[in-house]
Amino acid sequence: MMNDFSYTRAHEMNEVPLFLKQHQKNRIIGGGTNLLDLMKEGVEQTHGLIDVNHLGLNEITPTEEGGLLIGATVTNSDIAFNEDIEKRYPLLSKAILKGASPQLRNMATAAGNLMQRTRCYYFYDTSTRCNKREPGSGCDALKGINKIHAVLGASDSCIAVHPSDMCVALLALDAKVHIKSDTTYRVLPFAEFHRLPGSTPHLDNNLKEGEMITGIELPKRGFPKHHAYVKARERNSYAFALASAAVGYSLNDSYLSEVHIAVGGVAHKPWRDPEVEEFLKGKLPTKDNFRQAAELLFKNAVGRGHNDFKIELGKRVVVRALEMAINNEVQE
Ligand code: SF4
Repeated sequence: MMNDFSYTRAHEMNEVPLFLKQHQKNRIIGGGTNLLDLMKEGVEQTHGLIDVNHLGLNEITPTEEGGLLIGATVTNSDIAFNEDIEKRYPLLSKAILKGASPQLRNMATAAGNLMQRTRCYYFYDTSTRCNKREPGSGCDALKGINKIHAVLGASDSCIAVHPSDMCVALLALDAKVHIKSDTTYRVLPFAEFHRLPGSTPHLDNNLKEGEMITGIELPKRGFPKHHAYVKARERNSYAFALASAAVGYSLNDSYLSEVHIAVGGVAHKPWRDPEVEEFLKGKLPTKDNFRQAAELLFKNAVGRGHNDFKIELGKRVVVRALEMAINNEVQE
């Protein structure tokens, strides 16, 4: 049963950090597409909600550096179909359109996409043990049904994965997260926003108490010429990734000059490995080189039984994305 909670509409930005500081269980609501589910399931026992949809954070604007700043409450649909994003950052559009359903994308916000929680079954089932929901209680996924769980960067405390498609593309694009408290403003590289589980899996990200996301910054370069997003899932729509890959690269005289590869559905956060990207630099875009890169990317992968298949699947998804990026093929 859902517990009572208050609802406040924020009219000024500074109201939000102050509201968050007032109670540990106060939460921001944008589209509410994940948060309301969590509240209904009793996973979140929210004390109060603050609605941030009326703070003017719903625009996509150019930055002085030649990139774009996506406001925190721009919806996933508005990002995916924005003319500049489609033209300059098509990887981001394609990744978003592989996620959720049109109805959800019309409601879900940019910041909410980063803040969404894992879809681990045990996390949502309050009758089971889950360190993420209840620190120190244990993890029933370790010896349970763990088909959808992590093969990279997991710990014995938690093997959950981050469910986002959009975040995988944002990592590959070197996006940055703009973060505000009542007294500070900071910009965090996307790779430093989400956390690995370690012994504190209840912490999904590196936001501090009283901080809110105000926007997501895209750098100037968006890999419009060579990019691809490939998502493997159990059915062809409205399902989370078992493994996904967002890639972008540039070619110089047919040789790979800069390569960005991010993978999703396999770790507690979107995953990227600079060693793998360095390996491909200066090489020809051949299947053999791509396969070697994929082997390197998954060299420390560990399966937990039901999810063993994800290691080979992940490698194939990476190879396929790298191949498709040569001609910007679109996965059907
Ligand atoms: Fe909870 Fe993580 Fe274990 Fe899932 S994998 S039950 S989220 S601790």
